[in-house]
Amino acid sequence: MKHIAIIGGGFAGIATAIQLVQQGESPFRLTVINPEATFVTGIAYQPYATKLLLNVNAAKMSLFPDQPAHFLDWVMAQPDYAGLPQPFVAQAFLPRALYGEYLKQLWQHTRELAERKAIILQPIAGSVESCRPLNKQFQLTLENTAQLVADWVIIASGNALPSNKVLPDPCIAKSPFYLQNPWQCLPQAVLTASKPVLIIGNGLTMVDTVLSLRQNGFTQPIIALSRHGYGMLPHRHNGLAYPDFSSELLAATSLRQLVNVVHKHIRLVRALGVSAEPVIDAIRPYTQQLWRTLSLKDKQRFLAKIRHLWGVARHRLPLHIHDDLQQLRLDGHLKIYAGKLLHVTEQPDGLLVDLTNRKTGQQQRLAVAAIINCTGPESDLRQQPHHFMYQMLQEGLITQDSLRLGIAADSNSFNVIAADGKPQAGLFTLGGYLRGELWESTAVNELRSQAKTLAAQLVQQL
Ligand SMILES: Cc1cc2nc3c(=O)[nH]c(=O)nc-3n(C[C@H](O)[C@H](O)[C@H](O)COP(=O)(O)OP(=O)(O)OC[C@H]3O[C@@H](n4cnc5c(N)ncnc54)[C@H](O)[C@@H]3O)c2cc1C
Repeated sequence: MKHIAIIGGGFAGIATAIQLVQQGESPFRLTVINPEATFVTGIAYQPYATKLLLNVNAAKMSLFPDQPAHFLDWVMAQPDYAGLPQPFVAQAFLPRALYGEYLKQLWQHTRELAERKAIILQPIAGSVESCRPLNKQFQLTLENTAQLVADWVIIASGNALPSNKVLPDPCIAKSPFYLQNPWQCLPQAVLTASKPVLIIGNGLTMVDTVLSLRQNGFTQPIIALSRHGYGMLPHRHNGLAYPDFSSELLAATSLRQLVNVVHKHIRLVRALGVSAEPVIDAIRPYTQQLWRTLSLKDKQRFLAKIRHLWGVARHRLPLHIHDDLQQLRLDGHLKIYAGKLLHVTEQPDGLLVDLTNRKTGQQQRLAVAAIINCTGPESDLRQQPHHFMYQMLQEGLITQDSLRLGIAADSNSFNVIAADGKPQAGLFTLGGYLRGELWESTAVNELRSQAKTLAAQLVQQL
């Protein structure tokens, strides 16, 4: 009987396991390994603050690509939502914790279905420390030294911690006042501190952290520092659909041409008094295709010059969350700086920070209770020496893509590419690790399709 092991039981791992059980007809063994605290929900859908919302509306959050209303229907059947107008709920940005409940219920049903189909489904609460080939199989070793052998391994270990590269002095990474993991519960000492908190980063994780700090009683100023200090944008035109202009996009043969096409349409839409978001949304279905056609040089140019602007345009906030944030700025509770950390010194009750403020051109000194790293998941595996992926990279089982955004893999078969340049038989990946291949490989709508396709391919070979 074939044994499939999935490393990581967050959204990508669980969606793949659910698809495998639903599609599987003959018996097989399926093991999903994930630390207990984040099993099924991953880091995204078990937030420690109830205020944190999905950044995609309910109508688009089904786990099943061929049943787009699955999540919405589930929500409408929950006591808190029954009786509300469905079109209203469909457009709403619902709590991330609610989505976690949806995943947990689906997982429970999947375990029951597996039993009925004689599929041996075994969740293991733990963390994989290494993965090595063993004859034509793979041997996984967990942190408690337990071992298991699988025929096929799916790497779905998702979002890595942010990099400590942002710190001018690497020693500060060991300080109790530096929080590398922004997705973990904030320490009480920070919440009750009488000094500001400094957040590095200015994207969605920064917004989550600000809302969580406030909801958990933090009253001191919060400073968010990023290189550009771009403001976050709200979802302003949720219902507006911009006419398809994919033929123009797909005809572009360089990044420059692509940018020109997009600018042209942004100008057109602005002339109508509408902001650029509907144009950006119209590009989304084609981003993977467009990314694949760009040359390596153009991809590098995009990362150096356009990535941050694209991030602002693409990762938007529900309007009322955007308003909450703006209110915090108006009230002086939140300050957004463009600049750079120059120097950090640990003190008995916090950190002393020197930074450059690009707007004033001045250096600034701040005494803060903590620095929280919200720069987003680190994608370069070489920066994560304690992760099992680093071991696999060192031993040539996997390689990084040329931009070090993830791992080299065939985005059709999901097979990872080994150091000899050939597909590594039996070793697969999906989700964020395919960012180098696809660029956009993060959101539920991308991951659910990958999970379904990967499961279909494996089930065929059972
Ligand atoms: C805070 C946040 C909010 C988001 N909100 C949305 C949203 O509203 N809508 C949307 O479409 N997308 C959203 N996303 C995008 C999101 O990345 C995906 O929806 C999804 O969570 C990614 O799933 P994943 O399984 O790849 O990663 P993760 O959720 O990170 O799951 C990976 C799992 O692997 C585990 N793991 C790591 N290392 C090991 C190991 N060595 N051994 C075993 N297990 C391991 C981790 O503990 C984790 O549980 C959000 C992302 C974040 C970070």
